[in-house]
Amino acid sequence: MTATPTRAALAWEYSPAPEATDHIRLAERYELFVDGGWREAASHQPTVNPATEEPLAEIGWAGEADVDAAVAAARAALPRWRALPALERGKYVFRIARLIQERARELAIVESLDGGKPIRESRDVDVPLAAAHFFYYAGWADKLSYGLAGRRVEPMGVVGQIVPWNFPLLMAAWKLAPALACGNTAVLKPAETTPLTALLLAEICQEAELPDGVVNIIPGDGATGAALVRHPDIDKIAFTGSTGVGKDIQAATAGRDIGLTLELGGKSANIVFDDAALDQAVEGIVNGIFFNQGHVCCAGSRLLLQESVAEEVVEKLWRRMGLLRVGDPLDKNTDVGAINSAEQLERIEALVDAGEREGATRRTVACALPERGYWFPPTLFTDVAPVNRIAVEEIFGPVVSVMTFRTQAEAIEKANSSAYGLAAGVWTDKGSRALAVARALKAGVVWQNTYNQFDPTSPFGGYKESGFGREGGAAGLRPYVRVS
Ligand code: NAD
Repeated sequence: MTATPTRAALAWEYSPAPEATDHIRLAERYELFVDGGWREAASHQPTVNPATEEPLAEIGWAGEADVDAAVAAARAALPRWRALPALERGKYVFRIARLIQERARELAIVESLDGGKPIRESRDVDVPLAAAHFFYYAGWADKLSYGLAGRRVEPMGVVGQIVPWNFPLLMAAWKLAPALACGNTAVLKPAETTPLTALLLAEICQEAELPDGVVNIIPGDGATGAALVRHPDIDKIAFTGSTGVGKDIQAATAGRDIGLTLELGGKSANIVFDDAALDQAVEGIVNGIFFNQGHVCCAGSRLLLQESVAEEVVEKLWRRMGLLRVGDPLDKNTDVGAINSAEQLERIEALVDAGEREGATRRTVACALPERGYWFPPTLFTDVAPVNRIAVEEIFGPVVSVMTFRTQAEAIEKANSSAYGLAAGVWTDKGSRALAVARALKAGVVWQNTYNQFDPTSPFGGYKESGFGREGGAAGLRPYVRVS
């Protein structure tokens, strides 16, 4: 008898699976999309790939005269657009959705190049959801009075829309789709570090033969945003971004008869009770905080664990974190991509340092990081006191702060003890407990036994310093109409 030969050890390492980029044709320079054409901007700035620090294109940044021109174009386009039969307006919105689907691969790659997010996320989440928002609101265009309890509705008029860098195309879709369906014309300002997919969306508006001036897209920085907010001919401002800037905008719009919605920051609690399916909860915790490198307004950045299972969950989580693949955003195996900018990396590092200084225990996954680009490995803090900065301030990075609780009442109290109120997660096997806790939480969205699920039919928005106004669902129509 011969002995069974020993099998060679299997190599479980992934081979790189990079998405091809040879079909992407970016222009060397982009101007401002105003009145259906390209207007030369006052100045230009490069937009940089955060995974390589290489410039991708020169981007026109709008100055005050450009903001004036964009608002004037939107104003001039308004009478015909609002007078269009609603069904026809809906068709344009529908066409934009279809064109996003047709260009989905290109949009996903450009989103990952410009913003650093894993291609798996831009391909499977950002771009399909952006198309879904346009499809959904296309359907509402001729049913607005049903959506608003049979009341007569009129568009607000010219809307100024300002979006952040974490979901550039998706946030543009959240803003433009309901605005257009309701008969408004728009001036959209993308964020400074991620203008590219908004500019591709401008091309899509052209392809869709959207009437000139209905959508205007003007990249720029805070000064451009401030000029748009302060423009006297704007009827409504929709802002998504940080709470600090949101407060500034609220002050700047005070005393003016214009609509305002603010979708701001968060420090959301993800609460795990001892009767939860713990392995499933660990997957949800990972998705809650490491999705999009934690650059998510509703990230489950405060992890509240019931004391009896805290140690077990932390160990399971730590083991799972070690399996996350950090690196090239264009690699289809990547779970955690690049941090969006050098500035954001500095903010994350400063808060993580503060966490250590204040006495929390830090564990950071040891992983090889690319030499160039902006990176921060997944990090877990335990022994966190509720007053520590890492428990209070939005880190907006792949960093989770763990705290514990004994009773349901304590969990609710700790979760609500925040200036923010955007989202929360509840992990429990008991439906009655999930509902009771959800009702008691001051959070706009509460997920049960899951996290970071988005759908155009379901409204999203916050309480307290997370802002006001809702995006998505029938509720997302309300900020874009006057009702009588
Ligand atoms: P930010 O506030 O710095 O910038 C957001 C946008 O506002 C950018 O386009 C920026 O150019 C512009 N801006 C800056 N200063 C301005 C001013 N004075 N007037 C007008 N516009 C101005 O935020 P950020 O760092 O780009 O984004 C991250 C923040 O966005 C986080 O706090 C995050 O929680 C929040 N966010 C919230 C939601 C939500 O739905 N609640 C969604 C995504 C992001």
